[in-house]
Amino acid sequence: MSAAPTAARARAVTFDAGQTLVELDTAMLSRRLAERGLDVEVAALEAAQAPAWRRYEQVVKDGGHEAPWQLFMRTLLEGAGVAADGATPLAAWLWGEQPTKNLWRRPIPGMFELAAELTARGVPVGILSNSEGKLAELIDEIGWSAPFRVIVDSGKLGVAKPDRAIFEHAARALGVATAEVVHIGDSRTADIDGARAAGMRAIWFGAAARERPEDGAEVAIAADAGAVRAALVRWGLA
Ligand SMILES: [Mg+2]
Repeated sequence: MSAAPTAARARAVTFDAGQTLVELDTAMLSRRLAERGLDVEVAALEAAQAPAWRRYEQVVKDGGHEAPWQLFMRTLLEGAGVAADGATPLAAWLWGEQPTKNLWRRPIPGMFELAAELTARGVPVGILSNSEGKLAELIDEIGWSAPFRVIVDSGKLGVAKPDRAIFEHAARALGVATAEVVHIGDSRTADIDGARAAGMRAIWFGAAARERPEDGAEVAIAADAGAVRAALVRWGLA
């Protein structure tokens, strides 16, 4: 994805939610599966995550949230040892539970703290997520609503990343131009390509970024909160 160099000063930050602020709570998932009579160990779920995320990445460009989500979950469950004919109905059940029992709720070390630090410095900060329409409730439930001026949830808006419309909506809600926003996220397709197409700078966060390093004037890579902060400092934001 190429885009013209961004001349505007960075003034605002958006965070993706899943695998950026909060990660899959594999212990909770193991407990949910136990409710359905399945014994799936946390370690097996952890080990199955990387290939399941690669599968997600292959389809997220097609748009929407439910289909990539269920494919991720089916791939994860099968990778953790659940039979294929059982994984499909389980993924559908978990999807239906997701608005009230969100499985992505384990804070990633340092990321909410970084959002709070930015807000304390007067930087407008938002969440920009492909979610199920109840993300604001989850963030409130886990006690981290305060730093965020806006929470943009694809399930409420009816448009999902990587569609540039959701990035433009987030920038408007933060009172800035897209060229003034740095977006932080873990999905190469949904977050990084989506943000760049909308004219934002981007920080590619997490393990996948480590596997495919790319660092330039408009895209930084960061494996942890400290590296995200360093990239924001480079752009005059932290
Ligand atoms: Mg994500």
